[in-house]
Amino acid sequence: SELPSDPNTINEVRQVPGACFSFVIPKVPSNPKVIHVSKDVASLVGLSSEDLSSTEFLEVFSGKKIYENTQPFAMNYAGHQFGNWAGQLGDGRAINLFEVEHNNQFYTLQLKGAGKTPYSRRGDGLAVLRSSIREHLCSEAMYHLGVPSTRSLALLETGDQVLRDVLYDGHPDYEKGAIVCRVAPSFIRFGSFELFSAQNDIENLKKLTDFTIKHYFPHLESQIEPVEIDKNDFDKLSLTNKQKYLDFFQEVTTTTKNLILHWQRVGFVHGVMNTDNMSIHGITIDYGPYGWMDDFNPNWTPNTTDAEGKRYRFGNQPNIALWNLLQLANALYPLIEEVKPLEAILEDYSNSFQSDFTKMMCTKIGIQNPKTSDESIVNQLLVTLRETETDMTIFYRLLAIVSKNDTAEKALDKINFAFYIPETVKDSVKESWLYWFTIYLERLQEETFSNEERASKMNLVNPKYVLRNYMAQLAIEAADEGDYSILEELFEMLKKPYDEQPQYQKWFAKRPDWARTKIGCSM
Ligand code: AMP
Ligand code: MG
Ligand code: MG
Repeated sequence: SELPSDPNTINEVRQVPGACFSFVIPKVPSNPKVIHVSKDVASLVGLSSEDLSSTEFLEVFSGKKIYENTQPFAMNYAGHQFGNWAGQLGDGRAINLFEVEHNNQFYTLQLKGAGKTPYSRRGDGLAVLRSSIREHLCSEAMYHLGVPSTRSLALLETGDQVLRDVLYDGHPDYEKGAIVCRVAPSFIRFGSFELFSAQNDIENLKKLTDFTIKHYFPHLESQIEPVEIDKNDFDKLSLTNKQKYLDFFQEVTTTTKNLILHWQRVGFVHGVMNTDNMSIHGITIDYGPYGWMDDFNPNWTPNTTDAEGKRYRFGNQPNIALWNLLQLANALYPLIEEVKPLEAILEDYSNSFQSDFTKMMCTKIGIQNPKTSDESIVNQLLVTLRETETDMTIFYRLLAIVSKNDTAEKALDKINFAFYIPETVKDSVKESWLYWFTIYLERLQEETFSNEERASKMNLVNPKYVLRNYMAQLAIEAADEGDYSILEELFEMLKKPYDEQPQYQKWFAKRPDWARTKIGCSM
């Protein structure tokens, strides 16, 4: 049908029952400018370097112009926020432009910050430069760390002023408006299924699930014949169909578990693991108040609004992912109508997580052939790491230079740079460390790898460079003044997070003191 052309009508905030999405018109920016492009993502979606410098690129990805024969839309979804049912949420500031097929892969391209949609609730649908820089840098950093993630094609400034905060003296603190173009197979979330389930709209629940499987999980339906069902008679859902939905749930559970193991490996804390921020592709999505762990502390969360409950703290991410999967199971239940097989999938997650986690941790400490008894070495390390402020990234990176025949004293000396206040490593803290190194070095004796082999394997899973909050903050402050050099430097460095890259050595550093208090950023 013909697209309504009045943005005020089409983008109007409202409840949209029975819909997966609503057509919208992106806001026309006053003076758009491309700030930074990920060349990797550009080639992934088939854009050449000429394309990137064209006026059309600027116009399409800033929302100024709608690409011909496409219809931008915002997605409808619901979700549980901080454990509570939140009803219809939807993409308040994300607009899907189109899907691209390139090299037999499908990519959805989406603008974040291109104005109001029916799902904007009380927001303006816009994004500011600081949050957009954080999303652009972190998406690509995660990809290069080997952590599944949405990608970021481009960061643009809109030329508009956006209001987020009012200063303590009552003055509005205008900030530069910006847009990020995100890329993912799709932006379907757990909350997309919860939406229809909560509305008891089983027909659309089935449509969405069938569509999702057909387009993004086609391997799950290859042997299954399509079954026509009477929309009023769901008893006729065939067994094969139920199996397909169970397989889908199983796959989302597996990829989600895998994702959380990666987060725990690199020290990433998402900060807002609401069910609407959980991708069905098992990829990291929605970079808001996320943060990287500097000193290792499982109770840490970067999200100041979660400061009391600490629901989304680092150490709780595996449990929350499971809780979110339970919500997805509830949402899919009407299509499956059997509790047991869904429960079995969830139980398998909780039963296997601990041993998967230990295996992952063994790779971090360079144990190539893990044994069940290694769990206690890992646990002892996690306890010891917390006894004094110890930088997680630096610790694991330096652990690679410890050699099998070092004394515990010598090993401790080698990782000394990881301690925030080295003077605190004395008395019982020092004893704990020496004890841990003693059992660790003993264990290494059983391994067949040479020190060099062990080190090079460890350096493949322990990044040297991560996007620490203070680093993003420095990039943001400079960019706010029109200087994008730090942004560009970090972007380049984070493409090879596991490489030594001596030219970037200054970033292999503990969080500076000025950044000790949290640097917050959500919207
Ligand atoms: P996000 O930080 O993108 O996960 O946002 C959480 C929810 O709030 C999503 O539904 C967003 O679309 C919505 N939202 C966040 N910021 C804005 C905004 N400035 N305008 C409209 N909706 C917003
Ligand atoms: Mg300002
Ligand atoms: Mg979100």
